[in-house]
Amino acid sequence: MRLMIPRKLIAEMIAHALEQDPEECCGVLFGKDGVAETSRRMQNAHQNKVSRYTMEPLELMQAQNEADRNGQQFVAIYHSHTYTQAYPSETDVNNAVESGWTDPFYVLVSLVEKTRPIVRAYRIGDDGSVNEVAIASDGQAYRGSGK
Ligand SMILES: [Zn+2]
Repeated sequence: MRLMIPRKLIAEMIAHALEQDPEECCGVLFGKDGVAETSRRMQNAHQNKVSRYTMEPLELMQAQNEADRNGQQFVAIYHSHTYTQAYPSETDVNNAVESGWTDPFYVLVSLVEKTRPIVRAYRIGDDGSVNEVAIASDGQAYRGSGK
């Protein structure tokens, strides 16, 4: 499935990541059929926020209800990596498989280069496979610059 994220939502994810830096930020993108329409910041509930993230089950449930009310789906789950590349870590993959959240895309924002945040998207399969998905944005492929 395709993934479309408007530039303003990409900018919002990057802004969120920079605000939480050096801790990881996390959130979700709502929309339909692989097209993100709105974003929602979530709290990082993990004890070690610098290298991990966890979403509170209650907050996640509230977000799910919000999406349902608006007739939207969870298009993607995003989080930032403040010291590593925009690629799902082994922990990210294990969490996705164990939680069963393999339908949404996983969007990673890397702040390895603070002046040039990188945003990439992946599908994580039930078998732990990781495949990058091109992000379309406002009609064009997103090229990874923070502008
Ligand atoms: Zn991660």
